[in-house]
Amino acid sequence: MPVESIFHRLEALLPKVQKPIQYVGGELNSTVKDWDDADVRWALMYPDAYEVGLPNQGVAILYEILNELPATLAERTYAVWPDLEALMRAEGVPQFTVDAHRPVRAFDVFGVSFSTELGYTNMLTALDLAGIPMLAVERGDDDPIVLAGGHAAFNPEPIADFLDAAVLGDGEQIAIAITEVVREWKAEGRPGGRDELLMRLAESGGVYVPKFYDVDYHPDGRIKRVAPNRADVPWRVHKHTVMDLDEWPYPKKPLVPLAETVHERFSVEIFRGCTRGCRFCQAGMITRPVRERSITTIGAMVDNGIKESGFNEVGLLSLSSADHSEIADVAKGLADRYEGTNTSLSLPSTRVDAFNIDLANEFSRNGRRSGLTFAPEGGSERMRKVINKMVTEEDLIRTVTTAYSQGWRQVKLYFMCGLPTETDEDVLGIADLAKKVIKAGREITGSRDIRCTVSIGGFVPKPHTPFQWAGQADHETVDRRLKALRDSLRGDKEFGRAIGYRYHDGKPSIVEGLLSRGDRRVGAVIRAVWEDGGRFDGWSEHFSYQRWMAAAEKAGVDVDWYTTREREENEVLPWDHLDAGLDREWLWQDWQEAVSGGEVEDCRWTPCYDCGVCPTMGTEIQVGPTGRKLLPLTVV
Ligand code: SF4
Repeated sequence: MPVESIFHRLEALLPKVQKPIQYVGGELNSTVKDWDDADVRWALMYPDAYEVGLPNQGVAILYEILNELPATLAERTYAVWPDLEALMRAEGVPQFTVDAHRPVRAFDVFGVSFSTELGYTNMLTALDLAGIPMLAVERGDDDPIVLAGGHAAFNPEPIADFLDAAVLGDGEQIAIAITEVVREWKAEGRPGGRDELLMRLAESGGVYVPKFYDVDYHPDGRIKRVAPNRADVPWRVHKHTVMDLDEWPYPKKPLVPLAETVHERFSVEIFRGCTRGCRFCQAGMITRPVRERSITTIGAMVDNGIKESGFNEVGLLSLSSADHSEIADVAKGLADRYEGTNTSLSLPSTRVDAFNIDLANEFSRNGRRSGLTFAPEGGSERMRKVINKMVTEEDLIRTVTTAYSQGWRQVKLYFMCGLPTETDEDVLGIADLAKKVIKAGREITGSRDIRCTVSIGGFVPKPHTPFQWAGQADHETVDRRLKALRDSLRGDKEFGRAIGYRYHDGKPSIVEGLLSRGDRRVGAVIRAVWEDGGRFDGWSEHFSYQRWMAAAEKAGVDVDWYTTREREENEVLPWDHLDAGLDREWLWQDWQEAVSGGEVEDCRWTPCYDCGVCPTMGTEIQVGPTGRKLLPLTVV
């Protein structure tokens, strides 16, 4: 049955909303396939506004891979702003894809990629606008399979009631595998209905279907156990790991937005995973082991991506890009290749060492010298040991001195507040460090034209990290420390004016903490927030702490119990049945080491310390050097 575009109905609403261009699609490299030629159809959502969602790499990669498959179609959908939502409700216009403006409910799979838990309420809006029942148990055979992926899917329990399924880890191969399961089931005439399709997905061990697992609780509220309620469903669901990134050189045809977006550049992921062992970093823990893309593939992807998109900026992405074993050759090769053209290069550099300055110099050959960003994360040496961020004060001062001496004038330093074992002095240490940075800069340059911006984020303990057992700092403590830090910076006559200070108050971190380490009972809070008008919770102008607290009270959920409470070693955690490969005992040991000041090296350069990932997942570290060179490609 052909599915009609709803564009003619949407078009009438567009003159009445902000930034209507974000809803019209038609971007360079977007794909519209014939509905009837496909027998499996995906609607892919990034649950935030178009301007944030379009540059998302995960969605872009899956969109391309799925559209390359024969008889498969993938389209994109984003969260609509409240102004359009109100009009869509009034006019009965359903949630639509931007590619062909087809109603989301007509698709077989509705895949939502969550980088952060603060997108949960936006998924509920999309389900509701689409006419898909919000609760998985209420869906029928005509509704799509609602599937979550992305980092937040490593604990999807707070949204378990709204999901049919979730996938952990890299999406490339599992998206194809799911497509084939759906295709086969449909070709067989949909035997057993929706339930059998979900069983087929769950049996494979690679797809988590929450409704096939029951959760029992102790009288005090802790989880007693999570157990499958069907015979053929595995006790634990494993994450997916793509081992050879060279085999998956996506995006090949980067989407070029028509509307303004947060990043307008071609991004190439130069490696996945990070084993530096920062204890707060969920991304580092759940994406292990390190797998590098080869220098030749990076070179070819950059060349192709620029030709296909016309972007004049290339970003080399990863969790710590300067750690690629051949980054110096990559940087020099690309800087040589594009010297004298309008193509500029960028590298998110957070490692604090002189090598990064050399790289930054290479990368700025063709572009502006904006700021250098370093992330010491902790304000004192003691704090940095606790989080396993092995940066000394001398390292930092030496690095920024080099940067200032080579002409950089602006340095940004990123820290966190509310870390485990943190004291007021640790946070005030940030001010001392920033003042020393300015002092060193003035001395080396002889100029007072030196700036340093201190940016502070609130720490949120995350699942699958050594801090998953930690008590989160309450927002009053975080706010008090941040105020003392601000006073210390502002009150300094000698250095205060040279130091910028950016921070958020501690309340959003408490909500993020509730959603990060929550269990199925937190779903009622999310729903109540949504019913009370909660949308775009990642945006400070839309976020309401009071709304979340009122919803928690209504749902009988004690926010402190989920956030500030420290867990015991043997407490069953809501995500224990979801396997990121990390050995629980190793995580616990690392948590104890954190408290006692023990450090862990990077297993790329030291022997394996048995975090558990490689033997459990059948993976291994994939690093160069390959000994190959960037291909001498022609410059556009
Ligand atoms: S198992 Fe060993 S080699 Fe693999 S990521 Fe963990 S520490 Fe590194």
